[in-house]
Amino acid sequence: MTTVLLTGSSGYIGKHIALQLLNQGYLVRASVRSLSKSAEVIDAVSSHLIDSSNLNARLTFVELDLEKDSGWDLALQGIDVLLHTASPFPLASPKDENELIRPAVEGTMRALRAAKIAGVKRVILTSSVASIYGCDLPAGVSAYDETMWTDVTHPVGSGAYTKSKTLAEKAAWDFVNNEAPEISLTTINPVLVIGAPLDKNFGSSISLVERVLKGKDPMLPDLKFALVDVRDVAQMHVDAIKNESTKGQRILASSGTRSFIEIAKLLKTTYPKSKIKTGKAPKFLLHVLALFDGSIKSILPQIGKPMNVNASKAHRLLGIDFIPADLSLKESADFLIRNSTVKA
Ligand code: NAP
Repeated sequence: MTTVLLTGSSGYIGKHIALQLLNQGYLVRASVRSLSKSAEVIDAVSSHLIDSSNLNARLTFVELDLEKDSGWDLALQGIDVLLHTASPFPLASPKDENELIRPAVEGTMRALRAAKIAGVKRVILTSSVASIYGCDLPAGVSAYDETMWTDVTHPVGSGAYTKSKTLAEKAAWDFVNNEAPEISLTTINPVLVIGAPLDKNFGSSISLVERVLKGKDPMLPDLKFALVDVRDVAQMHVDAIKNESTKGQRILASSGTRSFIEIAKLLKTTYPKSKIKTGKAPKFLLHVLALFDGSIKSILPQIGKPMNVNASKAHRLLGIDFIPADLSLKESADFLIRNSTVKA
């Protein structure tokens, strides 16, 4: 049986990956920052398992912190595949960008070095579109693809999270290319991940849907979001493990792009009595508000920017047909309403 070390198993995406690994017969050694979180992971996956027999043996836990050395070498012993998803994904940027960059980069390196020592030959890393889209598209090209890299000095590429993912992914490729050629690395680079979580502890990801449902913004900025369903992201990680053609590849995960206003209109149609606002915020107003509000200032470089992503490689190599973004949006909203996070 193939044993996988899954880091970040307590995350929104991590829980979905754990579930799919278990349902496909893998043995999962799941890492959590604190062992007290293991019950949360077990509860989240349990009711979705095809077969829940012998779960204690199929799903075990180790404590690992991206910022601490302890435990990594032992955790990788006897592992066939490292699936590294852990990385901070906060809603707001911290004042000190190193709060994200340090765990992302150093954590990735801790995981990879321990994998090399343990003789692990297969690694799947959860990267992001963030390590791709922080650059200007070349002339005549209308969509981002896996050949592109974020420039961390570009206005769109210089945010703390974007930097953290770009530098972590670069460090991973540099390590396997220069120091561990025996390791086959694949990166999965999702756009904004949405879709029903497995439990109420779902991090920052579907906060976009929550924000729209709550009608938090009186008018919506002209922002575009490329979206992908969490089940597809999990499936790509798991399917990549045994797919030879994905070795050495970066693979974007995206089902399509929607504007803020399109998302609001879609959800308003589904929940007509909700507080959802669908009006567009004029650009000049955002520039004025940005003088007083840092969060508005941080989105200015993206206002009006197209966000087209070419995810044909995922289809070509992994045969994936992405779940339509509108369905993922509706299922995210249904989850939030069903769990009383939002009233509609
Ligand atoms: P999430 O729910 O916040 O999960 C993040 C995971 O990383 C959690 O398990 C968290 O553990 C763990 N983690 C964070 N800092 C850690 C540390 N210092 N030591 C050990 N573990 C730590 O976020 P997510 O949406 O599932 O994201 C998972 C991965 O996907 C991340 O690499 C993220 O960059 C990437 N990604 C996400 C999206 C998206 O839209 N969600 C898009 C592209 C890429 P705790 O539970 O203990 O906090």
